[in-house]
Amino acid sequence: MSELNLVLLGPPGSGKGTQGERLQEDLRLPYYATGDILRAAVRDETALGRTAKEYMDRGDLVPDDVIVGAIGERIDSAEAADGFILDGFPRTVPQAEALAAKVSELSREMTAVLLIDADDDEVVRRLGGRRTCEENGHVFHVDFNPPKRDGVCDVDGSELRVRDDDKPEVIRHRLDQYHEKTEPLIDFYDRQGLLRRIDGTATPDEVAAEVRGVLTTLKLETDEAI
Ligand SMILES: [Zn+2]
Repeated sequence: MSELNLVLLGPPGSGKGTQGERLQEDLRLPYYATGDILRAAVRDETALGRTAKEYMDRGDLVPDDVIVGAIGERIDSAEAADGFILDGFPRTVPQAEALAAKVSELSREMTAVLLIDADDDEVVRRLGGRRTCEENGHVFHVDFNPPKRDGVCDVDGSELRVRDDDKPEVIRHRLDQYHEKTEPLIDFYDRQGLLRRIDGTATPDEVAAEVRGVLTTLKLETDEAI
C-alpha cells in the first residue's frame, strides 16, 4: 500500500481540527497536532523533548529545527509507516522547508497538502460565536449550537464565557499572523503540485465528503504512478 503523508492547512476556525480527527478515524493514520507533539516529547522525556523543555521553561519559543526534530521522530516511528496527518505545522515557509528536508532525509514524500479554506468574515463569525463552559470546557455556539439557556452550559449548568482566544481582537490578530506567515505556504505547496483546495465554509459533513473525494483521486494517482 502506498503512503498517505498529509498536511492540513487553513486559517484558524476553518474546521481543520474536526476534519483531521475524522481523517484519523477514516484512514487509521496518526494525526499530529504540533502542540500535542511537543507536549508528548516533553512528557516522554525524549532528547528533543528535553531540549524543547529548556526553551519552554525559559518562556522562549521553541526553534523550528527542534520542532521539526520532534515531528521527525514521530514520522519515523512504526505507527506512521503508512502515513501521517500534520495539523498546525508547518506554519511558515522556513518550517515547510525544514519539513521537506526531514521527509526527504527519511526517503519519503509528501502526498498532498489539504487547504481547508474560509474567509476572514466566516472565521470571525465561527470563532467569535463560541461560548465555552468555565467548569468543564463544553463548547457551544450562539448560531450553530446554542445552549438551551443563554450563557448557561446545558451539561453542567456552569457559566458560559468567551475564551480569550475567541475574543474579536485576538481572532483578528490570529488572522493577521495567518495571512502574513502561513498564507505564503499556499503558493509554496501549489508550485510543488501538492496543494488541494477544499471549501471549508460548507457543513462538516460536506467538507468531509469533499476531503474523501480528493483523497480517492490522490490514491488513484499514486497507485498509477507505481
Ligand atoms: Zn459544561
